[in-house]
Formats: sequence, C-alpha cells, structure tokens
Amino acid sequence: MSKNLSSMPVLGTQASAVAQEPSRTCIGCKNKDVRSQMLRLKAVETDLRMRIRIEPHSATLGRGAWIHKNPRCFAQARKRRAFSVAFRTSLPFDISELTDAFDSQISTNNESG
Ligand SMILES: [Zn+2]
Repeated sequence: MSKNLSSMPVLGTQASAVAQEPSRTCIGCKNKDVRSQMLRLKAVETDLRMRIRIEPHSATLGRGAWIHKNPRCFAQARKRRAFSVAFRTSLPFDISELTDAFDSQISTNNESG
C-alpha cells in the first residue's frame, strides 16, 4: 500500500494555448496587425472595372487585401493607389462600398476629436 502521489504527471501543461492570430499587412499604413483589427477586401471585376468589396469572412478564395478598420488607413490607401498594387491590375476601381463603410464609421466615431 505504497501510493506515491508525487509521481503523478503534472496536469495543465497545455493550459497556455495562446491563440496566435496570423498577422496581415494593411495596404494603407503598411503595418502588420491581427485579422480581427482589419477588414478583408476583395476585388470583383465587373464591366472592366474592379469593384472593391468588404468580405465579412475570410473564407472566400481569391485575391484579397487587408486594411485596418481605420479611415486614415483608407485615406492612405487611396492616396498611394494601394488597391492597384494589392490587386495587381490597371483597371479602374470602384470603392464606393468602402467609402460608405468608412464614412459611416467616421460619423459614428466622432467623439472628442
Ligand atoms: Zn493600417
């Protein structure tokens, strides 16, 4: 009747499962961040122009780009034609969907600024 409890394996060694989100590069500020801080963009070609859409999930295949949920990053991306670079095309872009999204963010995010 010699039970040696001290030889029990230590439980909880895998308790520190840090959820490591893969980081993405913002096409606006060029900084890397986790996906949860960013919007995934997708370009859909219609009538010889590329329509930039916001992808709610990253499940869709195809070429995508990432941008912070920050109007400043959007402004930067527009300025430096980051969309053409990100989607590797010379077609004109329709970014009205993005504009709407960021515009509404700006107006609702207008406290103490
Ligand atoms: Zn950014």
